[in-house]
Amino acid sequence: MSFVVAIDGPAGTGKGTVTKILSKKLKLINIDTGAMYRCVTLAMINENIQLDDLPKIEELLKNIKIELKNDKGNQVVLLNDKDVTKEIRSKEVTKLVSQVSSIKQVRLEMAGLQRKMAKDKDVIMEGRDIGTYVFPNAELKIYLDADVDERAKRRYKQNQEKGINMSYEEVLDNIKKRDENDKNKEIGALKIANDAIVIDTTNKSIDEVVKEIKGHVVKKKKQIKMVQKIYNVRSESTWKKIEHKIVKFILSGLYRIIFRVRITGEVPEEGSYIICANHINYLDAAGVVLLNKRKVQFVAKEDLFRYRLMNWLAHIFDIIPIKRNMQDMEAMKRCIKILKNGGILGIFPEGTRNGMEKNVKAKNGAAYMAIKTGTPIIPVGIHGKFKVFSKVYINFGEPVDLSRYKGEGKEAVDEATQLIMDKIVMLTKMED
Ligand code: C5P
Repeated sequence: MSFVVAIDGPAGTGKGTVTKILSKKLKLINIDTGAMYRCVTLAMINENIQLDDLPKIEELLKNIKIELKNDKGNQVVLLNDKDVTKEIRSKEVTKLVSQVSSIKQVRLEMAGLQRKMAKDKDVIMEGRDIGTYVFPNAELKIYLDADVDERAKRRYKQNQEKGINMSYEEVLDNIKKRDENDKNKEIGALKIANDAIVIDTTNKSIDEVVKEIKGHVVKKKKQIKMVQKIYNVRSESTWKKIEHKIVKFILSGLYRIIFRVRITGEVPEEGSYIICANHINYLDAAGVVLLNKRKVQFVAKEDLFRYRLMNWLAHIFDIIPIKRNMQDMEAMKRCIKILKNGGILGIFPEGTRNGMEKNVKAKNGAAYMAIKTGTPIIPVGIHGKFKVFSKVYINFGEPVDLSRYKGEGKEAVDEATQLIMDKIVMLTKMED
C-alpha cells in the first residue's frame, strides 16, 4: 500500500520548501518532479538537442538516468550518476524547462518514472500535474497558490541566496511565461484537481502552511485507518447480532416517526437479490435497510467510513466499502460472495446522489454481477423530500431476471443496466 500526498501549484508558491519540511516531519519520501524535468532540460542543453528534434529527444529519454537522493535532509539530484543539484537551477535551465516539459514524450516518460518511484511507498510528490495526471487517486491533494508578484519576490530572494544571477524583472517575466506554458500543456497541464485542497500562501508563513498541510495529512491517515478497520473487523459475534437487532429496532422506529413512509411491493422472503435504487438523499439507503425484514447490504463509497459514527453503523449493517474511480476487485469479490450465500445486495447504479438529474452515466457493476451470478435485480424507486414529517415513497418492483444477457459482452451489460434504470424511473413516479 502506498500513501501519496500530491503538492501541485505554480512556481514560487513554496512547494519545494514546504514539501522538504513535511517529508522530514511525516517520514514521507520527497519526490521533486520539477527537478526531473530540469534534468532532462540540462541533458538536452549539454547534448545540444533542439526542442523539435524528436528522434534525438526519444534517444536521450531511453538512456537517461535520473535519481533523487537524500543527503542528511538535503536533496541531491543525480543525472547519469553525476551530481547536478546546483546546475539544474541555472538561469539557462530555468528558461527552457517549461518548454521541455511540454514535449509529450518527455511528459509520458517522466510520469512513468514518477509512478515507479512512488510504487508501494509513502511519498510526498511536488509538481504541476501530480494530483490531476500522475496520481489522480492520490490520498491527499494540495494545490498551493499565491499572488504572482509575491511568488517572483520569493524566487528572486531564493536565487540571490543560491548565487543565481537574475534580476527581479527577469524572474517575474520567467514565472509568468512558465505559468502560461504550464497551464496550456497538452498532457499534465497545471490545473486544480476537483478534490484538491487549495491553499493561498500569499500572506502565510512557511510554518503556517506546513502546519495546515500536516493537519490534513494526519486527518487523512486517521480516516484511512478507519476505512481499513471496516475491512477487518467483521467477525460475526453474537454480540454483533444483538447490537444489529437493537440498533435496527431503534433506528427503524425513528425513521417511521421522522418520515411518513409509504412502501409498495416487497423483497421475496428467500433467495439472493440485488436491490438497485435511485439515490436522492443520504437517508434513502437507510430506509431500504431499516424497513426491510431481510438483511440488505449496501455498497457505499469508502469515504463514508471515515466518520466514526458512520464507520460503526457500517460495521453493524455490514456495508461494503468501495473505492472510487477504479475497479475495486476486493469489493466486487465481497459482493459476489454475498450473492452466492443467498444474501441481498443494495446498489445505487447512479453511483452518486441525483446522478440521473446530473446526467451521470449509470454504472453497470450491478447488472454485471447479476448476469455473472444469475441473481435477479429488484428495481426500487424512491422519492420524497426527506424533510421531517414529509412523505417518503419506497417502491419495490418485481425481480428482473437478466439471465438472457449471459455471455453477451459489455454492450449487453450496458443494455441490461439501461433496462433496470428505466424500471427504476417508472417506480419513482408511483405514489399511494
Ligand atoms: O518546480 P520547478 O520550478 O523546479 O519546475 C520546473 C518546471 O518543470 C516547471 O516550470 C514546469 O514547467 C515543469 N514541471 C512540470 N510538471 C511537473 C513539475 C514541473 O511540467 N510535475
